[in-house]
Amino acid sequence: MERKVRVRFAPSPTGPLHIGGVRTALYNYLFARQNGGSMILRIEDTDSQRFVPGAEEYINESLNWLGIGIDEGVREGGNYGPYKQSERREIYKQYVDQLLNDGKAYIAFDTPEELNAARETHPNFQYDASTRNSMRNSLVMPADEVNALIESGAQYVVRFLIEPNQDIVVNDLIRGEVIINSSILDDKVLYKSADNLPTYHMANIVDDHLMEVSHVIRGEEWLPSAPLHVLLYKALGWEDTMPQFVHLPLLLKPVGNGKLSKRDGDKLGFPVFPLEWHDPKSGEISSGYREKGYLPEAVVNFLALLGWNPGDDTEMMSMDELIAKFSFAHCSKSGAKFDYQKGIWFNHEYLIKMDDMDLAQLFMPVLAEQGYADVDINYVAKAVGMVKGRINFVRDLWEQGDFFFKAPTEYAEKDVKKRWKEDTPALMEELITVIEGIDDMTSANAEKIVMDWIASKEYHLGAVMNAFRLAVVGACRGPHMFDITELMPKSEVIARVRRAIDTINK
Ligand code: GLU
Repeated sequence: MERKVRVRFAPSPTGPLHIGGVRTALYNYLFARQNGGSMILRIEDTDSQRFVPGAEEYINESLNWLGIGIDEGVREGGNYGPYKQSERREIYKQYVDQLLNDGKAYIAFDTPEELNAARETHPNFQYDASTRNSMRNSLVMPADEVNALIESGAQYVVRFLIEPNQDIVVNDLIRGEVIINSSILDDKVLYKSADNLPTYHMANIVDDHLMEVSHVIRGEEWLPSAPLHVLLYKALGWEDTMPQFVHLPLLLKPVGNGKLSKRDGDKLGFPVFPLEWHDPKSGEISSGYREKGYLPEAVVNFLALLGWNPGDDTEMMSMDELIAKFSFAHCSKSGAKFDYQKGIWFNHEYLIKMDDMDLAQLFMPVLAEQGYADVDINYVAKAVGMVKGRINFVRDLWEQGDFFFKAPTEYAEKDVKKRWKEDTPALMEELITVIEGIDDMTSANAEKIVMDWIASKEYHLGAVMNAFRLAVVGACRGPHMFDITELMPKSEVIARVRRAIDTINK
């Protein structure tokens, strides 16, 4: 029988969510939506040593910004809660006891010093079938000694008893059958009396089982844990409901070899976090995609293609299209180079596609910062529509279209040298008269009248138009000249030409 699809994103709140974690969340979400399943957000906070304040809020805000919806979680609620592991202590304890009673786990009292000593005397020491009998644990100690120690308050851990020389098969939807021999595994700690909490492995398996998770979709860095997880499922008698494993390809450095790191981002100037992160301890600020001016749609599209493709060369895909097309069959086994330039390209493409009015809305705060807080939004929309083809980020609109809002006070030196000749002022005087006579300043009409005038006087087209542009824009750049002058008030166009005549080369 097909299981209902239930997936979980299970971050540990130990710092800002890394962009690789966002990709994992996204793939979980796409798969859940495609199959009419549920997306769970589970906070794995059993390692109190590594807890970072603000990290959980950061995770929520990041997913929210990107449109990665959660069906069940700390904030959303649901029938399988609580969704925060630190609130599930009692639940785990019961299964730790079950393993102990069934002889599948044992209690160990070895202190950190004793473990260190063992590591020093045995090269490659591993707590396993070959060494456990020479350690201090309930397998070798009389039961009353064990009980007496526990009662006296001695700290202990519960270790998983791993039988050596068994082949463990992990079925992975991307990697196929991964077979590992149990002899390479150590008797992992499942529970620590010191903080009365299970470790990651135990809590993770118990929760995946109780929350009826059908697919465990996570980064490749968790593949080495999977054989242990398979054994735990079996030991707990849950083999029949073991989830399908899916380990996603690593995100790799844009240049060179190895895993993508924060250092790569710092070096090459791109964020590795979805949102800006203010480290509560060091005060360090790490840049985020949102604050850098990326659109969430662009980030989603970019991330979706890091490790997956739709089977053809389609690149631009909305969330709905991604949901429809996503498939593990088209996920790669090998790592995906983090081509951050491609991320910039996506942002550019999404900005171009955006409705001019929406883009204007995003540009308004930038305008306000520049001192133009109360420009008419309709004017802004038309202006951004003309220059959006040249931008990668919303803030670039200012550099490309500043002249729509402020008259030039300086003129680009090299353009002046090239385009402002001795006879230019006279030409511009005449142009002012021509413009004054135009009633309908719409682009095509104004262009026709100016062109006719140039032709009738046999003036040089370039000489007039480049000087005109220099006067209005301040440099020889920008969109079609008569589109600019259609949008600006005619009086402003004339004032700018007049100012250029009065100031250039004076
Ligand atoms: N808490 C683990 C993490 O931080 C979860 C790994 C998993 O998905 O099993 O990624």
